[in-house]
Parts: sequence; C-alpha cells; structure tokens
Amino acid sequence: MAASPLVAGVELGGTKCVVLIAAGPDDIRAEARIDTTTPQETLDAIDERLQQMRARHGFEAIGIGSFGPIEIDERSADYGCVVNTPKPGWSGANLLARARRFAVPVGFDTDVNGAALAEGRWGAGRGLKSFAYVTIGTGIGVGSIIDGRTVKGLGHTEIGHLRVPRLSGRTWPGSCPYHGDCVEGLASGTAIKAQAGFAANELTRSDPVWDEVVHTLAAAFHNLVLTTAPEKILIGGGVGQGQPHLLPRIRTALLESLNGYGVAPRIAAGIEDFLAHPELGNRAGPLGSVALALNALQPGE
Ligand code: ADP
Ligand code: ZN
Repeated sequence: MAASPLVAGVELGGTKCVVLIAAGPDDIRAEARIDTTTPQETLDAIDERLQQMRARHGFEAIGIGSFGPIEIDERSADYGCVVNTPKPGWSGANLLARARRFAVPVGFDTDVNGAALAEGRWGAGRGLKSFAYVTIGTGIGVGSIIDGRTVKGLGHTEIGHLRVPRLSGRTWPGSCPYHGDCVEGLASGTAIKAQAGFAANELTRSDPVWDEVVHTLAAAFHNLVLTTAPEKILIGGGVGQGQPHLLPRIRTALLESLNGYGVAPRIAAGIEDFLAHPELGNRAGPLGSVALALNALQPGE
C-alpha cells in the first residue's frame, strides 16, 4: 500500500481543540492544543497554527471534525457553520472560511463521525460495513457509519438526542436544554452531575443514577441496532471509558431489551466485541479529523 499523504486535522471540541499534522496514528508530525473560547479567537489561533505547520511540514488536505450541530450539506448557504448550538457565541460561526484559504481539499463533518471514520481506517471498525462510535462525555455524540459511509442528508444524525422510554418510576426532568430527558439529558456526564450532585467519576458504582444511565443507553443502542444494523458499537468518552462497570451492565441490559429478536442471538454470541471500547481510545477524536482530511483527497470514496 502506498504511504498516506501528510494532512492536517483539526478537532474542534467544546472545551479544547487539537490540531495535528499526520499521515495516520503511527505518523504524527506535529500536534497543538488550543482552548475553545470565542469563535474569533479560537479560529484565528487554529489558523495561525496551521500556517506555522504548513511552513514546517506541508500538508495536502485539511479535515475538520467539530462539535455540533453543524451544517454539513454542501448545497446549503450555511455549509461549514455551527447551527443552533447552546454554546454561547458559536451559533453561525463559520468553521471553514479560514481553512479554505489554504487552497487544499477540506473535509468537514462532526467530531464523532470523524472518530468513527478513524476507527474504521485504523481501529476497531476495520473491515466493517456498519458500526457506531459513541462518546459519553460532557454530552453524548454518536458517529454512525452505514455501509461504509457517514450519513448526510438534512443535517447529520444526532443519536445522542433520541428520546427513549424512562426507567420505571424515574421523573428527574433531564439536563438537555432542548429536550430535557433525551438520552444526552439523562446519561451524559453533565446529566449525571446535575442529577446526582457529584461528577460521574465521584459516584459509587451502586449509585441509583447508574441504573438510569444504563437503562437509557441500552434503550438507545436497542434503537441503533434496529435502525442502522451496526456490527459493533464502540463506547468512548470520559464517562464511557472511565467506569469499568458500565459496559458489562449495558451489554446485559441491551440483550434483555432486544429479547432474542432478529440479530440478537448473533449479538449475544459476540457481545464483548459488539459493545466494546474504541481501539484508538481518546485519540479517536483527533485522528478523526485526519481521517476526514484523507477522505477529502479521495472524493467519492
Ligand atoms: P468531552 O466530552 O468534553 O470531550 P470527556 O470525554 O473527557 O470530554 O468527558 C468529560 C466528562 O467525563 C465529564 O462529565 C467528566 O465528569 C466525565 N468523566 C471523566 N472521567 C470520568 C471517570 N473516570 N468516570 C466517570 N466520568 C468521568
Ligand atoms: Zn437533547
């Protein structure tokens, strides 16, 4: 296989951004972290880093994986912009304008779709047609690969904001500013902290908040199994990776929920691989933007 070209990846996160010059996980030439503040300040700082890195290393494409919601429809006048985010000051911010001045192909998608593509190229999604990358952190994001591609249409999917049945007897209203008790509103790090009064890493494993987190995630994955036919669901993020009891509990709850239907026996036979952690771990996000850049060099792939 020919060596991959050197590209620039920009992961735009809610609290920090990572800029990489790389050809893949084993060939990272430069890396910088930038705090996410105002759009102007943050995007200017990224632009400056990219200019420095281009002078030193060169790059053939740029990939931008961003927190959302973002407009990824190239036909839209708002293509490349953040849309209707609760993050103050960022609605309408144009994430692509500066990158376009480098006159190289620019790939653009959600941070989680990027992470899913990275797992597909270099990690636990290699060789799979359909799978999902889920981050359970400050929020809940799901990158969904269906038949080898991310989904683009009227915007992008936002599986973290699905509504699912509540655990019996639970009435806490949830923390999503748009939906209250959607999946993110019940099972993200933000939701756990709001409901329990402690950060997720400070809760004991027997805290009843985990029962609702497990129930909510299992219900979301039940729906994901039935709508996108994933061969694996990969769980990352601070909460997703930081609580060893979580995956075994979600596996059990998911199988109970599917109740033997359809592909459930096949899932049950390989449940530890089916619901697993991403192989790239917390590098999936930054490498996701590298994957988006590499995809931008191969339009139509
Ligand atoms: P982000 O989602 O902002 O990119 P992370 O994926 O690191 O960042 O997620 C941050 C969230 O993860 C916070 O809500 C934090 O409380 C939670 N978290 C971090 N470490 C742990 C842990 N060991 N167990 C449970 N939750 C954790
Ligand atoms: Zn929501």
